[in-house]
Amino acid sequence: MSEGFIEPDLGFIAELKLRGGETLKKCYQCASCSVACDLTHDDKPFPRKEMIWAQWGLKDRLMSDPDVWLCHQCGDCSLICPRGAKPSSVLAAIRNASFRRFAFPGFMGAALSSPLYLPILAAVPVLLLAAALYSMNGFAVPEGTVVYSKFMPIRAIDSVFLPASLFSLVCAVAGVRRFWDGLVRANPLPADANIPSAIIGAAKEIITHERFAKCDKNRYRRLGHLMLFFGFVSLFITTNMVMAYHYLLRRETPLELLDPVKLLGNVGAVFAFVGCTWIIAKRAVSDEGSTHYDWTFVLALYLTVITGVLSELSRLAESPGPAYPVYFFHLTLVFFLIVYMPFSKFAHMLYRATAMVHSMAAQK
Ligand code: SF4
Ligand code: SF4
Repeated sequence: MSEGFIEPDLGFIAELKLRGGETLKKCYQCASCSVACDLTHDDKPFPRKEMIWAQWGLKDRLMSDPDVWLCHQCGDCSLICPRGAKPSSVLAAIRNASFRRFAFPGFMGAALSSPLYLPILAAVPVLLLAAALYSMNGFAVPEGTVVYSKFMPIRAIDSVFLPASLFSLVCAVAGVRRFWDGLVRANPLPADANIPSAIIGAAKEIITHERFAKCDKNRYRRLGHLMLFFGFVSLFITTNMVMAYHYLLRRETPLELLDPVKLLGNVGAVFAFVGCTWIIAKRAVSDEGSTHYDWTFVLALYLTVITGVLSELSRLAESPGPAYPVYFFHLTLVFFLIVYMPFSKFAHMLYRATAMVHSMAAQK
């Protein structure tokens, strides 16, 4: 903006249209959406203001707007919009643009934002894991009982996953740091803001998903997201416990079916499967429209859970034919999810949590 004039970022408007916000120009600022939203604040309601900012192409303002992330995409506002402007989809498009904007390194954000790069991104874990497998046992398939650690030793898995996970962690921290810096620059916090208390408050909201329950017409999403969230957390804990068993207790897989870690993993898999199925079914019939970001993330998660379950079933059935290929495919999907997390829709967990902390700290 200069001399009182607004200089729209036409490239950003085109990007929003490309990422699911093609209806943004239909908005005529009636504000019905902000009235319908159960999550908005009274003092600076959304999503009406985001709609006009999007129409004007105010990229910097939208990229540093915490309200974009306080929306849980329930769709209530889109249902009531008299113009069919789909504000819920426009906010999702702004979030999709943010994944690319804050990605570090930038080329990873660009790669994850386009389906054209999907084959290359999928090939990376296949090649890395195949190289690790070959270097350990030359692709030899163990004879007898199905034991995955004989096929793919943990040190082979770690040789790929440890550096890749470290890369992912560094990138995630850098992306969140960029986002946080933009938030506090555009929306300074009061000098006495209590950040630790805001972090605890945000964690409580995330664990209970209580903001989901505030949206009238789409309460079902809370249950689906809660199941997926707890399923994912359980599987994450299980993976780390298996490593702890291996390195600290010298206990190897497969674990007994009644081992607490195994039980946690199986319960987590059921939760994640049901949650994923729920979300995919609803997304498939939704008229909100879904983008490459939405589908890539949820389908990768779904396939990860399914191949994990099939790996276990084929091991229990003593079927080495399907067991080892499925297990290998499962590992490539786990890599896809974890290592590409900071650049994909998966990162919404990080950005939303950051925005919640900022919003709560601003209220103190
Ligand atoms: S998005 Fe729809 S409901 Fe919201 S201000 Fe624009 S026209 Fe009105
Ligand atoms: S999608 Fe739901 S939470 Fe998001 S702005 Fe619309 S009504 Fe509010």
